[in-house]
Amino acid sequence: MSRHLVFLGPPASGKGTQGRRLAEEKGLAYLSTGALLRSALRDDTELGKKARPFLERGEFVPDEIMVPMVLEWTAAQSDGWLLDGFPRTVPQAEALDADLDHEPQAIILHVPDDELRRRVSSRLECVDCHRVARDGEVETCPKCQGVLAPRADDGSANFENRLEAYRRLVIPTVTYYCDRWRARIVNGTGSPDTVYARVLG
Ligand SMILES: [Zn+2]
Repeated sequence: MSRHLVFLGPPASGKGTQGRRLAEEKGLAYLSTGALLRSALRDDTELGKKARPFLERGEFVPDEIMVPMVLEWTAAQSDGWLLDGFPRTVPQAEALDADLDHEPQAIILHVPDDELRRRVSSRLECVDCHRVARDGEVETCPKCQGVLAPRADDGSANFENRLEAYRRLVIPTVTYYCDRWRARIVNGTGSPDTVYARVLG
């Protein structure tokens, strides 16, 4: 398996859960651009101010904000990384390829839309470490005991917008990696353990 990985998949496909686990096991640095943006929004940083209007509408944050932010991060990693939520567009994938000696491999999680809607309606996230949990399953974050809350961007209209943006922008990005023989599509339905075994397989 490559030491440079990107996870692609629709919202609520389990990218965060699977990506975090894989990165931890393989000793790769992990970046969730979604979690980073949500923290920036909450702390109202420069980045948060720029990203807010897009995130509130369920739109993707534009390439000219995302690309420099991620490339700065990857440049600071010396021993492999895994990206969750980036690249989301073909220009982002091209920028990542142009900047690298090692071409990243893509892992794509596929989950049917109805299953995604079911998942998102019961999804909670730790406000501190961004670990995902299901409503009713646990009281506090299993990792850091932080407070669990619904994600601000998980409202139904917002979710449908993100799903639409995924089809419009990320599917061509998936094709970009497929065309270059650097993609593996993984069935993302079933328990996290089942999916993880497929990711490794
Ligand atoms: Zn936590």
